[in-house]
Amino acid sequence: MSNADLSAELQLQTALMLLKQAGRELSVDAEPGSTPWLQAVVDALCDLSSRDALTGLANRRQFELTITREIDRVARAGEPALVLMADIDYFKRVNDAYGHPAGDEVIKVVAAALQDCVRPMDTVARYGGEEFAIILPNCPTAFGLTVAERIRSKVERRPINVAPGVDVNVTISIGGAFAPQWVRSSAALWVERADRQLYLAKTQGRNRVCLEHAPVVLVSAEEKGMLFGTSQFQDLE
Ligand code: GH3
Ligand code: MG
Ligand code: MG
Repeated sequence: MSNADLSAELQLQTALMLLKQAGRELSVDAEPGSTPWLQAVVDALCDLSSRDALTGLANRRQFELTITREIDRVARAGEPALVLMADIDYFKRVNDAYGHPAGDEVIKVVAAALQDCVRPMDTVARYGGEEFAIILPNCPTAFGLTVAERIRSKVERRPINVAPGVDVNVTISIGGAFAPQWVRSSAALWVERADRQLYLAKTQGRNRVCLEHAPVVLVSAEEKGMLFGTSQFQDLE
């Protein structure tokens, strides 16, 4: 075996070990080393690298990819799309009262509750510690509040077993914003708008939903710059 072959073999063994550790079965019944088998290894690695290890949700990297694709689509096709940012209320109290593993269990159950509330085309991601982001493509503006309320109330109603004989209920605060339609914007600005609403939901008492009132019709200077380029259309401002 040449050095290059040996090195490739070692890398493959590492990849297979990673997949085994993560409990991933290869989804093909093909001869090890064959092209379909190698493709299945690559597919499994891609899937692994796009998911959050604790919850199985899309991870932050996958979220960024999906939202960037979505905001481009909204700009091109003008379909309304909603992004929701959700954060568990007073989560530190759960960790303090029942310990970190109990906190992990709460994060897992909330993640499952969120995933249960949405359509297959939606993306639920773990955005940070106890914060989640949900992308809802093709979500009519009139339905935004109903969808977010359904999610909020589903979490509130789900008891979570954190220790033998101990169930807790947690709540989430949700902030949401629609992507500006027919406008070149950025994922970061979209998330920032939703985040601002999440902050409002927290300061207004938590366990509530705050959505930007209407789809954005007024475009920020930054977005105008992206739409028109830098110099040619400046006199349109
Ligand atoms: P608020 O209602 O303002 O959101 O209060 P909070 O207590 O939920 O918010 P804060 O941001 O103060 O606390 C979040 C805590 O989440 C702090 C951190 O220790 C904990 N945390 C972050 N990631 C994890 C995790 O993966 N597992 C566990 N068990 N705890 C985590
Ligand atoms: Mg919190
Ligand atoms: Mg938080």
